[in-house]
This record gives sequence, C-alpha cells and structure tokens, in this order.
Amino acid sequence: MKAAIFRGPGAVEVGERPDPVIQEPADAVVRVVLGCVCGSDLWYYRGESPHAAGSIGHEFIGIIEQAGADVRGISPGELVVAPFIYSDMTCPHCLNGSTISCPAGGGFGDGVIDGGQGEAVRVPLAGSTLVPVPGTGHPDAVLKSLLALSDVMSTGHHAAVMAGVKKGDTVAVVGDGAVGLCAVLASRRLGAERIIALSRHPARQQTAREFGATDIVEARGEEAVQAVLDLTGGIGADAALECVGTEQSIATAFAVARPGSTVGIVGVPHGQVPFTATFFRNTGWRGGPAPARIYIPELLGDVLDGAINPGRVFDYETDLDHIADAYRAMDERRAIKSLVRVGSL
Ligand SMILES: [Zn+2]
Repeated sequence: MKAAIFRGPGAVEVGERPDPVIQEPADAVVRVVLGCVCGSDLWYYRGESPHAAGSIGHEFIGIIEQAGADVRGISPGELVVAPFIYSDMTCPHCLNGSTISCPAGGGFGDGVIDGGQGEAVRVPLAGSTLVPVPGTGHPDAVLKSLLALSDVMSTGHHAAVMAGVKKGDTVAVVGDGAVGLCAVLASRRLGAERIIALSRHPARQQTAREFGATDIVEARGEEAVQAVLDLTGGIGADAALECVGTEQSIATAFAVARPGSTVGIVGVPHGQVPFTATFFRNTGWRGGPAPARIYIPELLGDVLDGAINPGRVFDYETDLDHIADAYRAMDERRAIKSLVRVGSL
C-alpha cells in the first residue's frame, strides 16, 4: 500500500509499506478515508523530537475492511474514528482515565505500527479503540470534524477539562494552532463566558472568534500577560490553557492564570513549569496526552448535531501523493493544519 514514510528531519515522502493484515484476533484493518498532519508531527519533522524511520501519522477516520475473530462492537463497512493511540479500556489505567498508560496500548504511526497517513491501518485492540460513527452519507464538513476528534479536538477539550473550565468562567487560551483553536471551542462548549485567545495571525483570530473567543490578545510575552491581566481586572483568568509547549507559552500560561487556579497543559512540553513561582501562587497544573478514546463518544454527538465544527481548523488539503507539501505548508506556517484525502466513503 501507499503510505507516508518518515525518513528523518525534513524528509517525509510517499512510499510503499506492506498491506496490513489481521495478525491478532483483536485486530481490524481500516481503509483510511481522511488523515492529517499533527502539530506534534512537526516536532519530528523539525528534528526537535525523535521519531523512528518508517510509518507516521496518528489521526484518521476510515472504513472497517476486516475485523478479527475477537473484535466486538464494530463490523466491516462501518465508518470509525480512531483515537491517536490504541488501548484496551479495561486495565486500571484506562479505567482511571489515562489511556496513554495502557500496558497493552500503543501509538499509531510510530515508525513500526501503521500510521494514519497511509492507505490502510492494522488497528490492534480494534474493538476497544475504534469508535463507530452512526448514520450514513455524512457531508464532507462533518467528516473533517470527525477527523478532528482523533486528536486536536480531544486534546483541546482535555486542556479545558484539566483546567476545570466551567460555566461562566473567563478562560485564556495560549496558542492559536489547531489545538489552541479547539481549546477555544471546547471552552465555549463547557460554558465559558469570556474566552481570551492569544493570537497574532488574522486568519487564526477569525477562526478563534467563530469558535467562541470574545477577546483577542495579539501581544506576546510580558506584554501579553499584562494585556490579559488588564482584561481581567488584574486578577487573571479562571483557567489558562497551554496549547503550544514552548518555554515562553508555558511561562505565559502560568502568568495569566489567577492564583489558586489550575493550568491545563496539552502542548508537548519543550520547557519547564515554574515550580517555585507556582507554589507561592497556589497554582496547579494538570494535563498530558488526551484520553481521546474516552472523549470521542460525547464529542461525536455534538459533531453530528452540528453543535461543534472543529473540522474548520483544516485550512490546507492535499492527497497522499503530496504528503510532503502537507508538512511543508505547516512547517512554513502557511497552514494551521493539513488534511490528507486518502480514500472515499
Ligand atoms: Zn488499558
């Protein structure tokens, strides 16, 4: 089959990988319809995080082609959303909400396991991992939003849940990438009254406003912190959501969070939490990789109802043959998030 191959920093190209087959009774083979490039794939692409050579891409929706003998709950022909990791959903960690810690689990597109940027994927633990989508004939906009549940929307939602966003809150979202924008949408969905988006890009500001941002702060660093404090009467945000992972974005998130609050962190950390400073402000943090499998069912209902449209974050589209362009567009910041059209329904 045709699939994206990670050869090293700056080098992702289309190539050949073995056709996936059922290897274990709990496996399913999914024919990919839509895949995409993640902000975390960019860390690999830029050589800022290690990645094994081989398969890449951990977000996809597709059609079940084949299911092993032990697969329950999904059957061939069904449209499914894949969370970015697979998990058994029965171990103590999955039951405690940390699917990333599942001893039987693993990640798609890690170099060895098939990736979402390919024609097909062997999905281990398919019955407990894949979420079937009810109904048929979903329009393209809905399919894109379903794809966003695979990672970005679940991750943005995780930031909001971890920070304890509730009705009436003032939320500050640090980061205007796809996850940051989804964090705005998730905050609105959870009832936040005021949502301050930190963004300096006009197109991203516009999407942030469509997703529910009430205020935009264009400044960065100290100036951004002051702007958020000014907007909140000097108090700070009830919840700050860190959706980038750089030293500066982490510092900004903690500086705009009001004393006694919890910062939700979902940006892959490439910086440090200011431990002493947060101690003396009674500020905590929670976060990490989102348990997407746990969030997808509730978010899926809102996508199908048209209540949320996270697929709006895709602003560049191509096919598998042009996967290198999909990475380049994001690397050069011409695109927020690249969609890769792989197959049809
Ligand atoms: Zn588990």
